[in-house]
Amino acid sequence: MFSEELLKLDQQHIWHPYSSTIMPSPVYPVERADGVMITLKDGRQLIDGMSSWWAALHGYNHPRLNAAAHKQLEKMSHIMFGGFTHDAAGELTQLLLGILPQGLDQIFYADSGSVAVEVAMKMAVQYQHAKGHPNKYKFATIRSGYHGDTWHAMSVCDPITGMHSLFQQSLPIQFFLPQPSVTFDQPWNAKAIQPLAELLEQHHQDIAALILEPVVQGAGGMYFYSPEYLRQAQILCQQYDVLLIFDEIATGFGRTGKLFAAEFAQITPDIMCIGKALTGGYLTLSATITSKAIADMICQSEAKCFMHGPTFMANPLACAIATESIRLLLESDWQTNIQRIEQQLRRELQPASQLSYVKDVRVLGAIGVIELDRPVNLSTLQPKFVEQGIWLRPFNRLVYVMPPFIIQPDQLHQLTTGMIKVIKAEFGEQ
Ligand code: PMP
Repeated sequence: MFSEELLKLDQQHIWHPYSSTIMPSPVYPVERADGVMITLKDGRQLIDGMSSWWAALHGYNHPRLNAAAHKQLEKMSHIMFGGFTHDAAGELTQLLLGILPQGLDQIFYADSGSVAVEVAMKMAVQYQHAKGHPNKYKFATIRSGYHGDTWHAMSVCDPITGMHSLFQQSLPIQFFLPQPSVTFDQPWNAKAIQPLAELLEQHHQDIAALILEPVVQGAGGMYFYSPEYLRQAQILCQQYDVLLIFDEIATGFGRTGKLFAAEFAQITPDIMCIGKALTGGYLTLSATITSKAIADMICQSEAKCFMHGPTFMANPLACAIATESIRLLLESDWQTNIQRIEQQLRRELQPASQLSYVKDVRVLGAIGVIELDRPVNLSTLQPKFVEQGIWLRPFNRLVYVMPPFIIQPDQLHQLTTGMIKVIKAEFGEQ
């Protein structure tokens, strides 16, 4: 299809994320992607700074991931998981059990991050029900979080960016705590946990679980907070029989410098969600994992089983690719590699903190964030990034980069310099 034809069809008939059919945002026809390079249909090449929203760890079109997909395709692409099991799920499970925080050993495979969060929330409600606490069905969380766009996942997203006012009538009402006030690098201050302590003291009889993105809040604000908050939260949750859910959908698989962000706090949550980078960005697959004790309690509830079972549960093709992607990651010297990326991001983004309209520059693992004092206009900024040969997709006041781990220093340099150049051109040189 010619670009013009595709664009016309797209504009007239296809929805994009958070897009308007009346005023569609510009989209770029993409032809292919290899390694860290995205090739547009017009031949232009862009260095990927987004990893397709945290997912493509090893870059695109990876020979080993392709081979794993081909091998599985020859056997079967999909088979229902009700009544069957298969090697693809078995091998992935074996691998995950070796790397997940200790004690998490009951895995529920689902098809997207949002669904993994729905599953976690349903698990928490069924667990409390089985324990004889049917009134503990609400959730607590912190502001500026993001957990997905489906109904209950949306109810624990930040009330403002999560569009709660728009859906107010039909969205369940949850308990919102302030964003943890101690940042990742700051010394711990016990005041930061006080709001949670007070909330649980007053409302624990209504709360099934506390759900958090550990250490890194992603799409809700790209904010890095103290791991001590998680340790303190776990103590309080245990005290009040409130489950602790970690949403590691964005942070999982090395992005923060740890395999899972829970490792910063050295704790195991009661329930954990993974997705995105699970398949190296090849296919949609997620998992919600809990302990045997919690799983068994869930299965003692009225229903006598866990009440969820998606059509594409443990899709063999996705599982086979996920296994190969995790093997690739573990075989690589990924920690040194993330440190290399982190150091370069710190060095090259730090100068932006001198700009009067830059509020903060922060880096953790392979995530670099420039927070401005005003919102950006995506429609004007995106073409300028493309002109620089880089692919970034800022939102609100945040221009950020989270490249595939295979990015080379010169490519990362082009990303960071392009990022700062465009910001300067848009908001004025100092
Ligand atoms: N949780 C977190 C922390 C996420 O970053 C996302 C996706 N941005 C989700 C949940 C939802 O995942 P999905 O888009 O695959 O439904």
